[in-house]
Amino acid sequence: SSLPPPRTRIFKIIVIGDSGVGKTCLTYRFCAGKFPDKTEATIGVDFREKVIEIDGEKIKVQLWDTAGQERFRKSMVQHYYRNVHAVVFVYDVTNAASFRSLPAWIEECRQHALGQEVPRILVGNKCDLRHAAQVSTDLAQQFADAHSMPLFETSAKNPYGNDDDGGRNNSDHVEAI
Ligand code: GDP
Ligand code: MG
Repeated sequence: SSLPPPRTRIFKIIVIGDSGVGKTCLTYRFCAGKFPDKTEATIGVDFREKVIEIDGEKIKVQLWDTAGQERFRKSMVQHYYRNVHAVVFVYDVTNAASFRSLPAWIEECRQHALGQEVPRILVGNKCDLRHAAQVSTDLAQQFADAHSMPLFETSAKNPYGNDDDGGRNNSDHVEAI
């Protein structure tokens, strides 16, 4: 008699941050391998998944990107925060306000039992626009350390980096997500 094939494990990751920081573009990059030609503001929850193989086991990675709009979030919130395996906090390096919002996002996660016991990472997106950066790596690193999270600075648009980025911006970062 043959055993049934093993069930594919599902790994649910929520991607959180202010509207416009690039959550949809990052999840699209991860799942489709490219920057989207055109994105529309997320309404409700944007959901993408990709099957990856780790140590010979297929794992389905689900990425959930929420809308910033409060009226949609309220009704979705319970569903969204259920059975989460990891949290990705995203800010836009060219938008200081998106960085200042992080404590509120972290607190909201904590209220839904997603604190330090859950793997969490911090992502500074849009590093292709480094010349317009408002959030320094030092400041972001201090914040990441204070919250026991690793920091990844990246770009959904150009993860391979520009000539002027000193090689910091690296595709590994997007893959780490
Ligand atoms: P979300 O609201 O967080 O889901 O943000 P989106 O993914 O919809 O992106 C918001 C805007 O930022 C869009 O105009 C994107 O084209 C742009 N964007 C997203 N990621 C990047 C990036 O890495 N670099 C640049 N230059 N623009 C980006
Ligand atoms: Mg979005």
